[in-house]
Amino acid sequence: MINVLAIPALSDNYIWLLHREQQQDCVVVDPGEADPVMQHLEQHSLTLRAILLTHHHGDHIGGVEALLAGRDLPVYGPAREHIGARTHPLDRGDQVEIPELDLVLDVLHVPGHTAGHIAYAGGGMLFAGDTLFAGGCGRLFEGTPEQMLHSLDRLACLPEDTAVYCGHEYTEANLRFAKRVDPHNRALAERLRQVIQQRQNGHCTLPSRIGLERQTNPFLRADNPQVRQATEALVGHALPTRLDVFTAVRALKDAA
Ligand code: ZN
Ligand code: FE
Repeated sequence: MINVLAIPALSDNYIWLLHREQQQDCVVVDPGEADPVMQHLEQHSLTLRAILLTHHHGDHIGGVEALLAGRDLPVYGPAREHIGARTHPLDRGDQVEIPELDLVLDVLHVPGHTAGHIAYAGGGMLFAGDTLFAGGCGRLFEGTPEQMLHSLDRLACLPEDTAVYCGHEYTEANLRFAKRVDPHNRALAERLRQVIQQRQNGHCTLPSRIGLERQTNPFLRADNPQVRQATEALVGHALPTRLDVFTAVRALKDAA
């Protein structure tokens, strides 16, 4: 059984730490800061075996250099992005083997937030970086709506019970926005109610599940007639295609 632990970092980032129960080997995904990771390694006598990166933004790689000091570790990251510390460039179709955790992860190329963004999927888990968020998706800094829609399609077809680990705690704001473009979705209203409660108690709202995202994330529901109608009403004109709906929902979220 692999444990996945959320280490909060910066203002709203999560660094994901994976290890097997009763064992000391671990890996981290997207260490935007080193200190909280090092504290955790020390407190729990864990040994870091590898670093996995999803994209080049500072809030995801900022801790890498400091974590490498005095350690000889593989640093996996997107082949299509410039990341100085990366030792193992990855592209779609590649696999990452972490023998210490008896874990193999598939690499998916999911451009949109950044051009080379990758995600890692395996063992019933998805590490989505800033591509798929709980109730939302990443901003389009380096990609087109079409690319992002295609990337999200790729993630949405993972098994429904796949646990989704995202780069940020954005769930409540995402779901509040989602209600505007999907106002009659009961599952969404119920999820928002739960998430508000979780946040009031200071809890992490992740991981999500692919099935839940398909039901409640408007960026995975651009083909839903109710989402289209509500979005058309907000923008004041017809949105004939799924891509038109997706593009409009993304633009509304950017402006929110
Ligand atoms: Zn980012
Ligand atoms: Fe980020």
